[in-house]
Amino acid sequence: MTHACQFIRDSATKAADLRHRAVLQKATGTYATKVQDTKSLFIDWSYGRELARQRKWEAVNDLAFHLEEFDLRATARGMTVHWAENAAEAREIILGLCKRHGVRKVVKSKSMVTEEIHLNDFLEENGVIPVESDLGEYIVQLRHEHPYHIVTPVMHLTKEDIDLTFHEKLGTPTGSTAEDLTLTARRVLRNEYLTADMGITGANFIIAETGMVCLTENEGNARLSSSMPRVHLAICGIEKVLPRLDDLALFLPMLAVSGTGQQLTCYNTMIGGPRQTTEVDGPDEVHVILLDNGRTELLADAEQREALHCIRCGACLNACPVFKNIGGHAYGTTYQGPIGSVITPHLRGLEEWKHLSYASSLCGGCAEVCPVHIELHHHLLRNRRNAVQTNGSGWLEQISFQLWSFAMRNTTIYRVCALLSRFGQGISRRLGIEGTALDPLQRWSKTRALPEIPARSFHDWWHERNQ
Ligand code: SF4
Repeated sequence: MTHACQFIRDSATKAADLRHRAVLQKATGTYATKVQDTKSLFIDWSYGRELARQRKWEAVNDLAFHLEEFDLRATARGMTVHWAENAAEAREIILGLCKRHGVRKVVKSKSMVTEEIHLNDFLEENGVIPVESDLGEYIVQLRHEHPYHIVTPVMHLTKEDIDLTFHEKLGTPTGSTAEDLTLTARRVLRNEYLTADMGITGANFIIAETGMVCLTENEGNARLSSSMPRVHLAICGIEKVLPRLDDLALFLPMLAVSGTGQQLTCYNTMIGGPRQTTEVDGPDEVHVILLDNGRTELLADAEQREALHCIRCGACLNACPVFKNIGGHAYGTTYQGPIGSVITPHLRGLEEWKHLSYASSLCGGCAEVCPVHIELHHHLLRNRRNAVQTNGSGWLEQISFQLWSFAMRNTTIYRVCALLSRFGQGISRRLGIEGTALDPLQRWSKTRALPEIPARSFHDWWHERNQ
């Protein structure tokens, strides 16, 4: 089955699942309220967005320079910087490190890039046990699922679902409170930090000026994963670089507000290298992988390059009417929602993933909430255009649009079509075939109501009015 067919099938199933939709809409609704409350504390949120957009523009438009500066300064701090052109290269670098250090178990903090390169499956195939330490990621790992949302991996689950998962996988009594469940995860995971040979984290930002890695999180698990095992590996996309340390004064609050409605996340860690001789804590080695994996292709596209400005806050997902009805898993991608639909065709191939660009009402709600002001809906349109220009479109689609274009440009034909549509709808309703197998529009009207075609056209109304 193609990705497009799979997407249509899964999204139709999820859209019809009312329980799933209720859970999702409650979660996104709560986020929206919290984000709005926190934003109102800012003197001028729009100015912050504009500044963030400019700073990311500066970082991305001189990406090579900032990355080389980061490499130079991080190396001077005692870190080892690796450059990976694609997912396979990144996985091989990680496997090489695991072999060199005799790693049997890695403890991981939340990282969408490790999802992007399918790291967990690869590690397991090579005899290394990956343990997710972010509570949400830990739950999805227990359930053998993928994260549902780039910020909230278990947005689709209720407390009762998680209670059942813990009961089945960890043997906890059913009916546990949220606090009990969290304490259970904490107890299990503490032991994993102590026994893991390597810690793998993502990086929310990397700072060119200082050669440091910045992690921002709410559970302290990224800090433990990066400091307790003897080797720490941070992996990030090349777009995560910021030129200066003081850029964080803007981006950390912007990310926290847009992502979770907090003024600032609870743990903000700057990693500046391996343990020094005067220090008691920290890893013996720190490695950073800078992953391309299709990002330079996006960088080369001046029209759509701003998609690399994304700071992965997840706000566009929470605002998207399509995401709010089909959820994250239906997309079948690492990055879901509007930003996923924009970048996935670039990262994984336009032909196979172009269908995602049509999973949008183009309402612009995503661009409205984006803290770095990415015009996501325009990029979805550009993806559609590129898909048609590159691969053409089906004959049925071409004929339909040609007829549509012809009718819309000719008043008489347009009026005749409107008359026939009104007449057709009237007959169909009178005979009671609307929505049945006899209805020619049945595939379209099966899951949505066909709008009522008004008895009097705008043209007629206008004509009468002016008489
Ligand atoms: S596109 Fe904007 S709103 Fe969406 S995740 Fe990225 S930064 Fe957040």
